[in-house]
This record gives sequence, structure tokens and C-alpha cells, in this order.
Amino acid sequence: MQIKFTGGAGVLTGSCHLITYNDKNILLDCGLFQGKAEVEKLNEEDFPFDPKSIDYVILSHAHIDHSGRIPLLVKKGFRGRIYASSPTYDLCTIMLMDSAHIQETEAEWKTRKALRKGEEPLEPLYTKADAEKSLNYFKPVIYGQYEEIDDILTMRFLDAGHILGSSIVEMWFKENGETRKLVFSGDIGMTQKPIIRDPQIVEKADYLILESTYGNRFHDSVEERVEKLAITILDTIKKNGTVVIPAFAVGRTQEIIYELNEHYDGESEFKKEFSKVPVYIDSPLASKATDVFKKNAHVFDAKTREKIMSGDNPLEFKNLHFTQSVDESKALNASTKPKVIISASGMCNAGRIRHHLKHNLWRENATVVFIGYQAEGTLGKILKEGAKSVKLFGEDVAVNANIVSIEGFSGHADQEGLLKWVEAIKEKPKKIFLVHGEQEAKLELSEKIAQKFNIETHIPQMNAVYRIEGEQVSQLEEGYLLDSDEIEKKEFKKDKKLVLDDRIKEFEAIIETIERSDEEMIEADKRQALLHEIEALKDLADEILTKTEDAIENKQIRIKNYKQLNNLIKELEKTLVNLSLNNTQENFK
Ligand SMILES: [Zn+2]
Ligand SMILES: [Zn+2]
Repeated sequence: MQIKFTGGAGVLTGSCHLITYNDKNILLDCGLFQGKAEVEKLNEEDFPFDPKSIDYVILSHAHIDHSGRIPLLVKKGFRGRIYASSPTYDLCTIMLMDSAHIQETEAEWKTRKALRKGEEPLEPLYTKADAEKSLNYFKPVIYGQYEEIDDILTMRFLDAGHILGSSIVEMWFKENGETRKLVFSGDIGMTQKPIIRDPQIVEKADYLILESTYGNRFHDSVEERVEKLAITILDTIKKNGTVVIPAFAVGRTQEIIYELNEHYDGESEFKKEFSKVPVYIDSPLASKATDVFKKNAHVFDAKTREKIMSGDNPLEFKNLHFTQSVDESKALNASTKPKVIISASGMCNAGRIRHHLKHNLWRENATVVFIGYQAEGTLGKILKEGAKSVKLFGEDVAVNANIVSIEGFSGHADQEGLLKWVEAIKEKPKKIFLVHGEQEAKLELSEKIAQKFNIETHIPQMNAVYRIEGEQVSQLEEGYLLDSDEIEKKEFKKDKKLVLDDRIKEFEAIIETIERSDEEMIEADKRQALLHEIEALKDLADEILTKTEDAIENKQIRIKNYKQLNNLIKELEKTLVNLSLNNTQENFK
């Protein structure tokens, strides 16, 4: 058997592992690369295998970084079966369509830009029609049921407790009279999460592919986060303000509804105060996802099912409203009545949430509550770090609202959770492959696993290939690290001189523009704009210098080239300083 890690390895997103046995090829997940532009570019590259040669896909869960390239795979000729738990299939019917919609909108936007430049129009990665077609290849499977995929492979889904439908994949391979068991953890959830069950325990694994997102982090306790959310909301309502909660439409939004339901229909001490507070879910995807949740109540955890049996639907309460149309969404901001608005996207980089931020950030009595991870470069992260003003729809919006972060609402098990899950495996794996995490998280988890269980781990990078023969694991291809911060280094590695030449040209162009604009500088606001640009350029120069130094250390570029770049940056700095000086003098006139 061979495993090629073609995504979610060496890079956080794009989970996709190719397993080859006999003449069969199967994919574990087929996720979209998400994040920085450099990472997302990978989606446009050819798959590092022929999509037509893939016999099956086994999908761990519906998150787009695990499922989002399935429509592309089908578009490129895949015609096999896609095994997924039934709730995962239900979620994919809305999430893949939503992803296709995003692809189409983005391509339209880029096309408009390209046409203005006299360039060719752009094709979306895939369309809604592609997504719809790909749904025909799904085969929904019930948790715990053995599926004989072919003569050699039998598989079973266990609940991974990460999002609705999330699965741990157990695979038994019967080869040469021996049966070996490979387990793919998928994404492992944290225990005591509302609504969904805790991750199930695996009895045995010969080999394990383990996620490590929070391999070096620890979560806050559940009680703290629930209370903090309630108090934050009530404090804001007392000030007649609105609470805006950016939340992922699938999973996190339903968790918040569940927690809030406690205060409306449960035995909360805040019941009376909450009863008057309206809560609006303003995300069409979140509304659809909530319906999928309701349809799959049979896989909820025992506590939630008991609640339902006793007559309380935890995903509904009297003052909970789902807004659908854009008009309904707009109407929310027409009134300043205190309320809670939960909207997507969770990191505020797209979607209706941006309108709600525009209407509320400047208000002193409003509160924005962050309940999830905010990636570098997103508006969520910028707000969380205390920006005084942000740009929304071309307008500068002052940040006067109270910005609150509640940690502990997490989809992933932390280091302790991951180690406990491995500990519970009775017959422990001989080898563990760590995927789906930043490099540091994987290194720390790998160390802990070695200390605690004395199990050897591998950290496969992008496109690394391993052969498993009996007890033997050998690496056939090394792969490369593509973590977002590492991209710059990889670029240097790819074509040392060329990339550096590009940089040098870029800098020469910048210096030229600045010198030219210096002569034309008359109006005060133009100068102001330029000063901002200067600050940004200084930061960029710093960043490039640090990265170049790293590259030298790793012997990826020659010192001579570095000197050339360094000189240019110095020259740029000099030009910038002179320009700033000119500006101050002008201002004094
Ligand atoms: Zn996930
Ligand atoms: Zn994931």
C-alpha cells in the first residue's frame, strides 16, 4: 500500500490523501485549499494524479477544506463513488452549492477586472452545475456500518465529534493473506461540545493518520465560555446596544443557538432577562444548515436527544428569527432596538456580517463577540487585535464598539484531547502520520506522542509518498512544506535567481514611482495618501529583508543576490525618508 499526501500536509487546508493498493486508487477527502492567495492558487493547479484513475473517495466531513474540490474532481473526469456519512452528504448538498456560488461570484468579479485591463475572462474553478452533478456520485453511509468497498478494502465510519456528520474512517485492507488496519482521524472534535457526540474511540489501528490542528494548544473550560457569552449579551442589551456575533454558518451557529436556547427554554438564571431579547440568524447558509441539523437529530448526543424527547427543540426558541431576503437583513439595521445578530462569515472577510459591522462598529453601546479562530489577514483578526478604524465598503468606520473574544468554542480537540483519544486506542498504531496542522503544532504533538506512547510519527509534507509493507514504512518521496508563512521561502527555493530578480525589479519600479510622484506632489491629501503608502512600504521592506535572511541561512539564495536586494532596499528607504522630509516642510509652509 502507498500513501501520497497531496493536501492538508505541508499546508493546513486542502485535505487530500491518495491511497494506492493493488490497482486501486482511493482518496481520503478532496478539500479546497483556503487562506492566503498563494495557497488558494493551488486549487487551479492540476491534481497530482489523474482524476479519472480514482476509484473511490472517502470523505471524512463536509467542511470545505475537506470536501471543496469534489466538484472539480468530477469536472475533471472522476466517475467513482464518494462514501460519506449521511449527515455529511446532507451538509454537502448545501455546502458544495454554496462553495460553487462563491467560485462563480469570484470569477465574475475577476473577469470584470480582467476585461477592463484588456485581458481574457476567467472561468470559475467549478460552477453550481458542476457541484450539483458531483452530488450524484455520493453514497451516504450510516455510522458504525461496515462497507465492503471491494475484495480488499472494508471500511466503517465512527463519529469524530467535530461537526455534524464528521467521521473517523476505519479501513481494513486484506492483502496477501494479512489484514492491516489504517485509521484516518478526520478532524477530531473536543469533548462536551453541544449537540454532537464526543469523538468515538477506535479499538485498534496498525497505522493512523492523525489531525493536529491544536497539537500545541489548550482550550478554556466549557462553563466559562457559556457564562461569558450570556453576561456579554446582557450587558450590551442593558446599554440598549446590539450584539453582533460573526459565526461560521455550519456548526458554530447551531452551537450558539443551542447555548442561547438554555437561557430561553432551559433552567438558566438569566431566563427572565433573555426572554425579551430577539436573536436573528442572518445567513441563508446557516438557516439551511440548521434545517440539516434538525433532519439529523438521531446522531445528536444523548443530552440533546433527551431534551428533544422532553419537548424542547434546542435549535428553536420563541425569540429566534431566521432572516432570508436581503431586505429582511437590511431591516435589522434600520432599527436600533437591542438585539443579537449572528451572521457569517465567521472571520468577517465576506458575507452579510460586514454590513452589520458597518452599522454597529461605530456605536459605543454595541458589542462584537468573536467566538472562533481568526486567521491572519482577516477583518476578524484586525478587529480582535484592536484596530481603531476599519474600511468597510469603501468607508472608514470607527471602532467604538466593545470587542470581546470568547475562547473555547472550538471544533477541534486540543493537545490534551488528541493525546487522550490516542491513549484510548487499545491496540496502538505502529506509526502515526501527522496532518492538518501548522508545522509547530505537529512537531510538538509528535514529541508528546513519542514521550507518552513511544510511537514513531511521520510529518508528511506536500506530495510526500510513503510505502507501507507489513510493519515497514518507507518514505519514497519527500514533499515540501507549504505552510502559509513558508511560502516565501519555497518561492526562493523554486527558482532562486528568478524570484529575486523579480523582487529587484519591483523595488526599482517603486523607487521610480516615488521619485516621479515627489515632483508632482502638490495637494495635501495626495501627500497624506503617499505617507500612508510609505509606512506600508517600510513594513514590506522589513518583511522581505527578514525572509531573505532566512533564505540565506537555509542556503536557498546566494549572498551576492542578497546584497543587491539589500542595497536597493536601503536606496528605497533613503528615497522614502527624503520624501517624508519634503512633505513635513511643505506642511509647515
Ligand atoms: Zn473540519
Ligand atoms: Zn479540517
